[in-house]
Amino acid sequence: MLYNEPSPLEVKVLTRRFGLPGGPTLATYLATDGFAGFRKALQLKPEEIIEQVKISNLRGRGGAGFPMGLKWGFVPRGSDRPRYIVANADEGEPGTCKDRLLMEHDPHQLLEGMLIAARAVDARAGYIYVRGEYRYIIEILDRAIEECRAAGYLGRDILGSGFDFEVYTHSGAGSYECGEESALLESLEGKRGVPRIRPPFPAVAGLYRCPTVLNNVESYSAVPAILRDGGAAFAALGTPRDGGTRLFCVSGHVNRPGVYELPVGFNLLRLLNEVAGGIRGGRKLKAVVPGGSSCPVLKASECDLSLDFDTLAKAGSMLGSAGVIVIDEDTCMARVAARVIRFYAHESCGWCIPCREGTAWLAKLLLRLHEGGGRRGDLDLAVEIARNMLGRTFCPLGDAAAMPTIAFLEKFRDEFEAHLDGGQCLFEKQPAGVEA
Ligand code: SF4
Repeated sequence: MLYNEPSPLEVKVLTRRFGLPGGPTLATYLATDGFAGFRKALQLKPEEIIEQVKISNLRGRGGAGFPMGLKWGFVPRGSDRPRYIVANADEGEPGTCKDRLLMEHDPHQLLEGMLIAARAVDARAGYIYVRGEYRYIIEILDRAIEECRAAGYLGRDILGSGFDFEVYTHSGAGSYECGEESALLESLEGKRGVPRIRPPFPAVAGLYRCPTVLNNVESYSAVPAILRDGGAAFAALGTPRDGGTRLFCVSGHVNRPGVYELPVGFNLLRLLNEVAGGIRGGRKLKAVVPGGSSCPVLKASECDLSLDFDTLAKAGSMLGSAGVIVIDEDTCMARVAARVIRFYAHESCGWCIPCREGTAWLAKLLLRLHEGGGRRGDLDLAVEIARNMLGRTFCPLGDAAAMPTIAFLEKFRDEFEAHLDGGQCLFEKQPAGVEA
């Protein structure tokens, strides 16, 4: 099944094999430059591979945007401890659905990216930690791993190079928190998925406290093209500080929701209007959450900007996982805010108090506000609770809950106040409560 109708404005690097006749088999992959990047990597020294990734300006696609080549360079050399490659496929950020497609339509590309990473840091084993709800994707990945092993692209003495590397899949159990890298490692080790104190970071003490390269599926999937065509070619597609293309997941009130691969730095309004077909039903744009639900909302008047990490940060938001959630003029922002915080309250692992208590109280307050039962001081109280969470929690989930809450309350205060004045939700088409 094709993911959505492609747009002529797309620049297909990672998605270029999507929808090819023959499906995502090793034969299709090999017929379309598959493993050309790895063959090049076999000719390079490990530090030369890492240099190409640095030159590519690839910043981690999982949300944090950390430069990938720099991360690989942190793995200590000369240690006799085993090294591991881990792919974070625990895609759980609301509004984000790109890794699923990359694994479904081109699993060999992910495996090749992990193989190149393994060659760069001399790792012998890799794990793909797959979101629990993506069970059918584990079957796709396992099939691809088996094909590669049978054809000599995984296992012992790969392509006669003397290099050994195995990959294993591992299912998560439906916890958003396990998408946080240190909680993921705990879970992969068979323990409760709560975050670790850092430093040390995974590059030094990751899986089983051994040096580990841990990246997102989209990040690894970009590596074969970087090695095949050179880091500079990939970098040139994006902005000077943020190279390549990204898979933007456009959801919400547009005519053509879908996942579109575009150069980093593509204009947000062009994405909505020229790629995703404009706002549904001819309505006006009210707001956009640009990078998944943890990113502060932008008002329509703030949306004429370049989709790259630095520009979004300057605008007071984040590019995150590039989950672009589009909200039209008929939507109640109090309802959206209540729905978002309810998710974070549910997913808080309860490990630290500001997040456990803060998200629960914010969920109660915002639901009450939306239902028209809010009190005069609730707006300021909610902002104060959220501000007290910022920077005071053990992992980024606390900030992920607090930041969008503050943005909703500050940017759409008039709508929240209207709920107070009116004693009920004023958007008549949407009944009180936050369930869809
Ligand atoms: Fe758990 Fe939330 Fe604390 Fe993270 S911030 S450790 S999710 S309670």
